[in-house]
Amino acid sequence: MKTIDQLGKNELSGKKVLLRVDFNVPVVAGKIAETFRIKSAKETIDYLVANGAKATLVSHIEAIESFSPIVEQIGEILGQALTLVPLSELNSRGNLFNASPILLLDNIRQDKREIENDKEFARKLSGGFDFYINDAFAVCHRNHASVSAITEYLPSYAGFLIKKETENLSEALKAPVAGKIVVLGGAKISTKLPVIKNFLDKAEKILIGGAIANSFFKAKGIQIGASVVDDTVVDVSSPKIVLPENIVVTEDKTGKSGATSMPLGNIAPNQMIVDICPEFAEKFAEIIKGSEMVIWNGPMGLSEIERFAEGTKIVAQAVASASRSIIGGGDTIAAADKLGLLDKYGFVSTGGGAMLEFLAGNELAGLKALGYYN
Ligand code: ADP
Ligand code: MG
Repeated sequence: MKTIDQLGKNELSGKKVLLRVDFNVPVVAGKIAETFRIKSAKETIDYLVANGAKATLVSHIEAIESFSPIVEQIGEILGQALTLVPLSELNSRGNLFNASPILLLDNIRQDKREIENDKEFARKLSGGFDFYINDAFAVCHRNHASVSAITEYLPSYAGFLIKKETENLSEALKAPVAGKIVVLGGAKISTKLPVIKNFLDKAEKILIGGAIANSFFKAKGIQIGASVVDDTVVDVSSPKIVLPENIVVTEDKTGKSGATSMPLGNIAPNQMIVDICPEFAEKFAEIIKGSEMVIWNGPMGLSEIERFAEGTKIVAQAVASASRSIIGGGDTIAAADKLGLLDKYGFVSTGGGAMLEFLAGNELAGLKALGYYN
C-alpha cells in the first residue's frame, strides 16, 4: 500500500488531489453532533495544503441530503475555508479552485452509481486529478466507486488516518495473547460475533456486556425477560468469554421508573436488562487494569440514559487507565467523550463497521483497492 508520506512537495506542489474522507457525521438541529471524524481528516488535509496541492474532498453523509447546511461548520472544525461543489458541477471544478484550494464535493451518494461501484462514474470522478488519496477508513468496508473503483483511474495512496488505523488495528490482532483483553458491548450481535470468534485464539479474555450479552444468556437458557435481543444464534462457548453475573433491570427503558440490580436469572418477564451491575463492572475493571492491551467496542448498557450508564462509565475509566488501549464505535466514542475520556485512550478508531470487519480478520474492499493485502 502506498502512503501519503511518499508524496512530498516535489510531487504535490501545484497538483490536484481527489481526497476521500468520511464526514458521515450525525446532525442534530442543523449542528454537527460529533466532530471526531472530521478532525481526524485534518492531518492529511493540512499536509496537502502545506505542500502546495489543491484538494477536492469527497464524502457521503446519511443524516442529511446535502452538505450545504454544515459546510461552514466543517470549515471551522478544519480551520480551512471550503467551497461546496454540487455533484452536477464536477467537471467545472477547475475554475472553482480559484476561490479556495479546498473544495468539498457534495454528498457522493446523491448519485446511486457510487454504491454500485460504477466504473464509468469513478472514471468521471477522476477527471482532472493527479492523485487519489483515501483517508476514509470508516467506509473502507464498502465496495463503492469513490473508495474502490476510483483506484483504477488514478495513482492511489492511503492518507495519514488510514495509515494509523491499519497500524493500530493490526497491532490489536498481532499483539501477544497473554495480557490482551477484548471488551465488547452494544447491540447488533451479528456484527460482533465474527470479532469474538477471531479473538478466541488471539486474546486472553473476552468480556461481554450490553445487549449482545443477552444473546449469550439466551443461548444458555438464562431468562432475559423483555430484554433487547436479536435473532442471531450464538454458538460459541469458551472459558475465555466472561459474561456479566449481576445486572441492572428496569420495566421502563426511559429510566423514569427506576432500576434494580439483581443476580442473573431472577428477572421478571416484563423487565429488561439495561446495564451491568456497578459492583460487577468493577470485576471487569480489575481484569482490564491488569492487562497489557485492551480493545473496547460497545457500551455495557443503554448508556444514553444517565441511570443506565454506570457500568459503561466504570469500564470506560478502566480502559483509559490500561497500559495500551484501542477503542472504537460511534456509541462507544460518544459515551467516552461524554465522560471527558476521549484523549485518554491509546488509539480511537474512526471506524465502526470497518473496525469490526478489520478486527474480524476480513479483507476490506477499500484497503484491498489500495494494495494493502498485496
Ligand atoms: P458502537 O456504536 O459503539 O459500535 P453499538 O451501536 O453496537 O455500539 O451499540 C450501542 C447501542 O447499544 C446503544 O444504542 C445502546 O443503547 C445499546 N445497548 C447497549 N446495551 C443495551 C441493553 N442492555 N439493552 C438495550 N440496548 C442496549
Ligand atoms: Mg452504534
